[in-house]
Amino acid sequence: METRICKHCGKEFVPEYLRQICCTKECQQARSKAKREEKRSEYRKTERAKLKKYKAEESKKKNKGSSLGLVEKNAIAKKNGLSYGHMQALIDLKGSTWEDWA
Ligand SMILES: [Zn+2]
Repeated sequence: METRICKHCGKEFVPEYLRQICCTKECQQARSKAKREEKRSEYRKTERAKLKKYKAEESKKKNKGSSLGLVEKNAIAKKNGLSYGHMQALIDLKGSTWEDWA
């Protein structure tokens, strides 16, 4: 068989079997370990991305909870003698909606 370049350490070697890609067992093991870790970190990355997307969608949903616009909400807050932020906090606290205070 022709010589090959070890995928792990870059050394030239003569493979003993067709699919051998590393010069020694040690290199093979080190490589598969590195690959495993690569996969794991990739998995973590995609999981994080998924979570981020999920959170973004959740917050979008939350904001969409009311059909009222900012102007209407401000008017409602004013009517109840509160600022927009205080009104929102009160609504969240009571588990109510902007419409309840309109
Ligand atoms: Zn090697």
